[in-house]
Amino acid sequence: ALQLDIVTPDKVVFSDQVQYVSARGVEGEFGVLPGHFQLLSALDIGCLHYTTLEGDKKCAFVGGGFAEVLNDKVTVLAESAELAEDIDQVRAMQARERAEKRLESKTDEVNVERAQAALHRAITRISVYNEIH
Ligand code: ATP
Repeated sequence: ALQLDIVTPDKVVFSDQVQYVSARGVEGEFGVLPGHFQLLSALDIGCLHYTTLEGDKKCAFVGGGFAEVLNDKVTVLAESAELAEDIDQVRAMQARERAEKRLESKTDEVNVERAQAALHRAITRISVYNEIH
């Protein structure tokens, strides 16, 4: 088995043994099984998939960060993350709308990069939510 830990600046989102993990690295999707070589990768905003010891396929939202694979341990240090079942759909839809309005307004006060990242997080949360509902 693998030990998977997903940690954000304010909480431990997940810490348990799993069979398999896949995540969106900035250089592409990668999968980890026991015996994987050592790896350090920056993570994109995306869905992290994992398979529990019971064989259930689960997913979590990860808002960017880093993943380390070492000795059958996968450690994800994420800027923000939630298990799919903890995603508040209404909040994500409101965040999407807010980001879209900011991007449409095109005033100088709008930090476009920040608004685009917020939009990307919101859209990804909605798709992770939809994956389990
Ligand atoms: P918002 O504008 O709604 O705060 P955001 O993308 O700016 O969204 P983040 O900075 O990624 O939010 O996350 C801040 C905290 O709020 C984190 O702890 C994250 O887990 C939580 N969070 C954000 N959006 C949601 C959501 N839709 N459902 C559950 N938790 C959320």
